[in-house]
Amino acid sequence: MKLTYETRTLHTKHTFTIARGGASSWRVVTVTLTDEDGVFGIGEAAPSRFYGETPETVVVALEQFRPLLESIDPWCMETMEEEMNRALRGNSSAKSAASAALHDLAGKRLGLPLYRLWGLDASRAPHSSFTIGVAPEQELRLKVREAAAYPILKVKLGTDRDAEILRVIREEAPDKVLRVDANAAWTARQALAMMDVLAEHRVEFVEQPLAPHDVRGLRFVRERSTLPIIADESCVLLSDVARMADTVDGINIKLAKCGGLREAVKMIVAARANGLLVMMGCMIESSLGITAAAHMAPLLDFADLDGAALLADDPYTGATIENGVIAIPAEPGLGVTPSARAAGESPARGRRARAG
Ligand code: MG
Repeated sequence: MKLTYETRTLHTKHTFTIARGGASSWRVVTVTLTDEDGVFGIGEAAPSRFYGETPETVVVALEQFRPLLESIDPWCMETMEEEMNRALRGNSSAKSAASAALHDLAGKRLGLPLYRLWGLDASRAPHSSFTIGVAPEQELRLKVREAAAYPILKVKLGTDRDAEILRVIREEAPDKVLRVDANAAWTARQALAMMDVLAEHRVEFVEQPLAPHDVRGLRFVRERSTLPIIADESCVLLSDVARMADTVDGINIKLAKCGGLREAVKMIVAARANGLLVMMGCMIESSLGITAAAHMAPLLDFADLDGAALLADDPYTGATIENGVIAIPAEPGLGVTPSARAAGESPARGRRARAG
C-alpha cells in the first residue's frame, strides 16, 4: 500500500466557541491508503490541542506509521490498530484517520458499506444533536433559528452566564430536546448549583461537568444529580471505560480521542457491559471524518455528529444529518466522495504535505 496525506483548512459558518475558547478555521489531515490494484481508502484526522495534537504532529505520527501502513496486509485491520498503539502513545486522530482509510478500502474491495460489514441496521441510528456554541445573546438567538430543522440541540456552557444562555435558548426553542456540555469548566459546587437550572429548562443530560481527572468530583455530582452525567474528556480510550461505570451514567466516544474504528466499537461493547449509556461525538471535521463515525451510529443511544453541518466549506459528501436524521451512505466503504464544489477546484488548493 501507498500512504499519502494532505493538510487542509475547514471553516465554520460561525466562530465556534466552547469553554476553552473558539475559532473559525480548523486544520485537518486527509489520509489516503492506495493498494497495488489502485483501490484507495480515505480517512481524516481532526487533531485537537487539548489532546496534544496539531496537524504537524499528525504528519510526524503518519511518517512514524509509514513502514507499518505500507507493508501490512490491508485486511489485518485489528493488527494495524494494535501496532500503531505499540509504536506511539496518544496521537489518536492520526491513528483514527489511518484506521478509517483501511476500513474504507476494505469496504470498497468487498463492495459493501461499512455499516453492512459490521452487520448494522442503518435505520436504527438515533437522531443527531446540533451544537450551539457559546455566543452573545443576539447571536445565540440567530443560531437557534438557523438550527430550526434540528429537533435536538446541544448547548455549550462553562461560562459566567450559563443560566442566561440556557434561558435564551429555551425561549427560542421551547419544545426541543436540550442537552448541555460544560466542557470540564465547572467545579463540583458550580455543577450542583446548575442542576436546578438544568432541570428547570428540561435538559436531558449534562456532558463533562468537571475537570477530566476529577473522578471523585464526578461521582459526588452524579450522586446528587437528577440528570444523567456523560463523560467526554474523562473517557478517552477503551481502558477508561470500566473506571467510568461507577462514576457517570454514560460516555461520549470520539474517533479523534480513541484512535480507531475498532477501538470505538470495543468501547461501545465495554460501555454496554458496564451498564453505561453510549454517545458518539466529533470534533469540527468534514463529512469524511463524520461519516466514519456515522457508520457505527446504529449502536448508539445518543449521537452528536454535527461537525460537518457546522462548516461553510465541507470538501466531502458523505453521511448527512438533515433534520437530525443520520443518513449513512450505502456506497461501498465509507461512501464518501469529494463534494461537487471541491471536485471542481484545482488540486493545488489544499497544501499537499508530502507527495508520497
Ligand atoms: Mg463534549
